[in-house]
Amino acid sequence: MSVKEIFETMDYGTAPENASEALAWIVDQGGQFGHFIDGAFTDPGAGFDSKNPATGDVLATLTQATDADVTRAVAAARKAQPKWAALGGHGRARVLYAIARLLQKHSRLFAVLETLDNGKPIRESRDIDVPLAQRHFYYHAGMAQLMDSELPGRAALGVCGQIVPWNFPLLMLAWKIAPALAMGNTVVLKPAEYTSLTALLFADICMQAGVPKGVVNIVTGYGDVGEMIVNADVDKIAFTGSTAVGRRIRQATAGTGKSLTLELGGKSPYIVFDDADLDSAVEGLVDAIWFNQGQVCCAGSRLLVQEPVADAFYTKLRARMDKLRIGNPLDKSIDVGAIVDPAQLDAITAMVDANSAGHMHQAAVDMPTNGSFFPPTLITGLHPADTLMQEEIFGPVLVATTFRTPTEAVEVANNTRYGLAASVWSENINLALDVAPKLAAGVVWVNGTNMFDAAAGFGGVRDSGFGREGGWEGLGAYTKDVSPHKPLKPVSPNTGKGGPEGLDRTAKLYIGGKQTRPDSGYSAPSYAKNGTLIGHVPQANRKDVRNAVEAAIAAKGWAKTTGHLRAQILYYLAENLSARREGFADALNAAQGGKGGTKEVDAAISCLFTYAAWADKFDGQAHGVPIRGVALAMKEPVGIIGALCPDAPPLLGLVSCMAPAIAMGNRVILAASEPYPLIATDFYQLLDTSDVPAGVVNILTGPHGDMAGALATHMGVDAVWSFSASDLSAEIETGAATNLKRTWVNHGMGRDWFGSAGAGKAFLEAATEVKNIWIPYGE
Ligand code: NDP
Repeated sequence: MSVKEIFETMDYGTAPENASEALAWIVDQGGQFGHFIDGAFTDPGAGFDSKNPATGDVLATLTQATDADVTRAVAAARKAQPKWAALGGHGRARVLYAIARLLQKHSRLFAVLETLDNGKPIRESRDIDVPLAQRHFYYHAGMAQLMDSELPGRAALGVCGQIVPWNFPLLMLAWKIAPALAMGNTVVLKPAEYTSLTALLFADICMQAGVPKGVVNIVTGYGDVGEMIVNADVDKIAFTGSTAVGRRIRQATAGTGKSLTLELGGKSPYIVFDDADLDSAVEGLVDAIWFNQGQVCCAGSRLLVQEPVADAFYTKLRARMDKLRIGNPLDKSIDVGAIVDPAQLDAITAMVDANSAGHMHQAAVDMPTNGSFFPPTLITGLHPADTLMQEEIFGPVLVATTFRTPTEAVEVANNTRYGLAASVWSENINLALDVAPKLAAGVVWVNGTNMFDAAAGFGGVRDSGFGREGGWEGLGAYTKDVSPHKPLKPVSPNTGKGGPEGLDRTAKLYIGGKQTRPDSGYSAPSYAKNGTLIGHVPQANRKDVRNAVEAAIAAKGWAKTTGHLRAQILYYLAENLSARREGFADALNAAQGGKGGTKEVDAAISCLFTYAAWADKFDGQAHGVPIRGVALAMKEPVGIIGALCPDAPPLLGLVSCMAPAIAMGNRVILAASEPYPLIATDFYQLLDTSDVPAGVVNILTGPHGDMAGALATHMGVDAVWSFSASDLSAEIETGAATNLKRTWVNHGMGRDWFGSAGAGKAFLEAATEVKNIWIPYGE
């Protein structure tokens, strides 16, 4: 074709990337791969083929790991871990830096191999996946360097089991391995069965970078290998994948003491207001839903357009879709590549075929005749409750509906079980920044989409999982507090007999700002240390838990109050507790014996002051991400927190759970100390006189075992903490799988409530979610 003809037709020529280096690397390895354990590749064993989804060609044969392989990998990681941690921050930083440099040096090889294995356009693997993976290692080399000075009191968890999906094989590996290594952990990672090749190339890089043997171990295989890792002797599981598997892992790790982070699916809204720059918003959608063929957990897969511009927007979008280029992923001018596997293609096709609602437009483009390809698809006119508006399709299929007002946009956007990401398009920055905090999502992009950086944490809420990857907040998941914790000794309740001295005292529960009789109608006697009857304590059951959740839901306005107001209320509570210092101290002495009551009341007052102080100071951050703009890491309340308070100290324990939670804007349901419950019923009288709005603090009494399951499985509860002396950690973590709520449980270990472990940042972090709001600027 002559240049003249090219100018006339404006057709693209082909611009294929040369795959020979990547294919030669596979041949060099013999076309067959074993696992990477203890610094060396094992001999290839029985396994499965890794195929190029664009052609169906077999690229290599991989080995299916056995239980023995996983055990060996974990043992190697276990052995290597103390020495790796002892290398110190600077020593680890040097190794991570070497990895980053080598990734950079071999970036084209990684990009081509990724595209061959996964089917994503080379434009993406070259310009997005591989550079972001490098950046993650550079960034975390820095974190390793800074660990000693900036994270005092934190240490590595130990051995981390890491399981990643096929959509961003190298990038997800980087997100998992870089922070783990930086903090002194060692890892056993399983790549997805469809896409293990760049992980194996990464193993090669580890050898060149001088990663000590056993620090990084990679085992390949089907999903059951992931399950083996989950059940192995590891200290943490970091999982990225589907919500269904994430839920199973939550259940499998419940009560084991293994730390867990889950990055799961999404159905992220892409909200276009009528004042948006529609052309930019259309272009943004190309990245939101056709990037990586829509196989992106945070894909903007749910388009919400404001009614007045909906028709105009759809027209522009359809025109743009018809210009997309779909085909050979190695062609540098291809927009949309291949679906990762025929099985995935079938799943997408089946979901789209089963839908009869709305109006479907499929891009009028030339489709390749071989390989796994699905045309870019738009389905408009759906209702928010339609299956395709709710279920993750994980393919290049955009579903759309309209809205009228900003309030309605937020309601429709949040009408999903997921909460990973959202995009907001408006030329009115006030509107965009008003809407962003109201969206249930871990990441919000203003006038943009799919922006990522190692400095800005990524992760979700609700069924999208918990934990963050990247940023300072991501490091918490790879470190632990080194302050000593001793096994908890349960406190036996006092016993006694006889009637009350003086008037009968039968306490009530405290729900929605009112004293309420327990649903069961039962109460139990509570005795002083000397055996005299102090009063009767209501026995809460699951119906009372549900009532308390209803009350907490109704108090949602608390989340919108200012830190200043919350501080004022906490100070007021402290003031009122101080005024009744002697009475509380006497009650504590009577219940617990001894003379520690005054000390405990004073510690509770100090605790209220601590969190009143933090209420307006636990600030977010402005991350310096590499765009013209900022990523604002906003601290938001988790929502409704159920807390099983420690047996002892009963007042300080209750206040230590309540104060950080409400200081950060959460509402709480507190299960009071089991052996000394009456101090909590005294305490709620203070709440009544301290301007704490009804429903913000709800107090239940009775056996923790009767409340734990109800709190853990309740869909309206966002987090459960347990400092209970009852052995409830497994039950809570299992129950929490229902809505993937966050948990913070003691696994039978105690805490010094009077010391530094009894208060501070750990509580504030447990009481907040970090939402990163990306705001690009410039004309
Ligand atoms: P899966 O959850 O099936 O797989 C993810 C990984 O887990 C794979 O390595 C898989 O192995 C492994 N696995 C499968 N079953 C088990 C098990 N029982 N125990 C332990 N590990 C197991 O998801 P997909 O691979 O199908 O990925 C698509 C899903 O992942 C989508 O729903 C998407 O939303 C989500 N995702 C979320 C991301 C996030 O950051 N939140 C990022 C990327 C994807 P194998 O592949 O060999 O079966």
